[in-house]
Amino acid sequence: MLEKYSSKELMALEDKYGAHNYHPLPVVLAKGVGAKVWDAEGKEYFDFLSAYSAINQGHCHPKIVGALKDQAETLTLTSRAFFNNALGVYEKYITEYFGYDKVLPMNSGAEGDETALKLARKWGYMKKGIPENQAKIIVCENNFHGRTITIISMSTDPDARKDYGPYTPGFITIPYNDIPALENELQDPNVAAFLVEPIQGEAGVYVPEDGYLKKSYELCKKNNVLFIADEVQTGIARTGRLLACDHEEVRPDILILGKALSGGVYPISAVLADDEIMLCIKPGEHGSTFGGNPIAARVAMAALEVVKEEKLAERAERLGEIFRREMRNIPSNRIELVRGKGLLNAVVIRPKDGTEAWDVCVKMAENGLLAKPTHQHIIRFAPPLVISEEDLMKAVDIIRKSILSFS
Ligand code: PLP
Repeated sequence: MLEKYSSKELMALEDKYGAHNYHPLPVVLAKGVGAKVWDAEGKEYFDFLSAYSAINQGHCHPKIVGALKDQAETLTLTSRAFFNNALGVYEKYITEYFGYDKVLPMNSGAEGDETALKLARKWGYMKKGIPENQAKIIVCENNFHGRTITIISMSTDPDARKDYGPYTPGFITIPYNDIPALENELQDPNVAAFLVEPIQGEAGVYVPEDGYLKKSYELCKKNNVLFIADEVQTGIARTGRLLACDHEEVRPDILILGKALSGGVYPISAVLADDEIMLCIKPGEHGSTFGGNPIAARVAMAALEVVKEEKLAERAERLGEIFRREMRNIPSNRIELVRGKGLLNAVVIRPKDGTEAWDVCVKMAENGLLAKPTHQHIIRFAPPLVISEEDLMKAVDIIRKSILSFS
């Protein structure tokens, strides 16, 4: 049914009938397997975005799609008005997998963040004794946690915020990677939590100094403040460890996961915490019709099994080293900087003669590799973690050739 449309026609349909809230590269994808995708005309590409790191396990992973198909033919949704026979099994599995007492299942990453914020405020009032409506949460400049009104209230990005006010109060913004600023704000007794991305993905893959997470965590502990890690993008093996916090042996008080928790086949997010925190939320106080549905439960278990079975964290670590080395070896003055961890990397492009990161991405697409700029000068490179070394090297050749064509 979809085959009768050309890429051009499909882009025209989106333009005419869809809201203009995205600015995609002019490529229409019709199929994906592993680290590769194909457009509507059958042209092959390496996918170096992985749907913003949701496809860590590769496109259409047979085990994950198998779990989806199987469960879709049996029971799809019950709501949480009743129990279902997959949810408890999943809850046991994921809490043991990440080492927490409890999980609260949601759907999108933004919902995961909203859940964590509510949980932290609730804990602040019930356990820390913050006076009613006075709870504050510390967040970082240039954060990205999603698109809801409350989440954009924490944002410092004008594109995310402008003309969407009035904003939700209760947030303190400090620079990222700034321990003295955190230490200073933690003096306020009404602070309930510090919310941080272990690497700022959307901001352009900003990797903080070694020790930043550990030191932040210790300061939070000292001041009876919850340390919340948003690992929606960095989690599930992307940075070369199961969680990016694992690089510094930090165990967040509240952990937010999304994206690759489903391997990209279904919207699934989760918030993990211990009883002392999680049981602050009582029946009827929070939830979602689809959160914890049987398909999500089966899909997430399969997706997490794949991460272990295929040793994806180890692969990301090893291939990431190779990727950064190869990028640094490209003899082009258009490359200002290469940074990242595991297979979450960025190349900062020096603008010249009116061309910038976007133009490089269009050229790479012509040459068979898909990546997207984050902000004007930064290209994020985040292939599925299942990519073979041989394909990674082919991809490196495409990137090299594309960048050199601009020098
Ligand atoms: N948190 C982080 C760190 C993210 O990178 C994203 C999405 O890019 C989100 C939250 C929001 O996730 P979603 O788009 O599923 O709402």
